[in-house]
Amino acid sequence: MEWIDTHCHLDEDSFSQDCHETIQRAVDAGVMTMVAIGISLESCRRVIELSQKYDSVYAVVGLHPNYVLAAKPGDWEKIVELATAPKVVGVGETGLDKYWDHSPLELQADYFGRHLELARRLDRPFVVHCREAESEVLDQLRKEAERGPLRGVMHAFCGSVETAKACLDMGMYLSFGGMITFKKNESLRQVTVVVPRDRLLLETDAPYLAPTPFRGKRNEPAHVRLTAACLAESKGISKEDIALATTANARRLFGLP
Ligand SMILES: [Zn+2]
Repeated sequence: MEWIDTHCHLDEDSFSQDCHETIQRAVDAGVMTMVAIGISLESCRRVIELSQKYDSVYAVVGLHPNYVLAAKPGDWEKIVELATAPKVVGVGETGLDKYWDHSPLELQADYFGRHLELARRLDRPFVVHCREAESEVLDQLRKEAERGPLRGVMHAFCGSVETAKACLDMGMYLSFGGMITFKKNESLRQVTVVVPRDRLLLETDAPYLAPTPFRGKRNEPAHVRLTAACLAESKGISKEDIALATTANARRLFGLP
């Protein structure tokens, strides 16, 4: 079985000592492709470096909503340039975050719009981060959908069935991570049931959100299989079929080989 981790932060400090081994463990476990997501200009440069060093790593570049206030003048323009570098397969992560108070919401919304426009202009997918801002994210996506079908993914989806359906109606993919394995998240497992097989993606969001039984520990791309097992069970389909579907979906969305 072959897996794709569509969202990980391999450039973070917690991997600085053993990034090479972490990627090797993933490949050994069948996670043949990892999409490393940038969150700041520096982070974007690092994920591109990783994509140049490792065949199995691809990059997505953007400014995470929590980091837009810290961005320096000119950072956005440099991100726009990096977005067309080899092995950069998408734009993000972008979106809205009302949980952390790192950046004013209007500024987050401004950058969210810039990412959506950039993705459309380059014909690349976008990666959405949404934390306690479901209605605001949906509003902005609806506005964007008036310009044409959306090509994007709701990363680490943890919203309601209604939000999931609204995203699916606009053409979005939904990506599930370690949160679906947490015992108390039965309602989130129920959300996976309404997502058609051809719109499902898997991710780790490593080093965060490790699935059971590694909850609270550092997460890594190899653990995507644990989330996959949980997804297979909640959707009542085999792990093989989950592997085939999510891998094909990730290739289609990100244009991966
Ligand atoms: Zn992330």
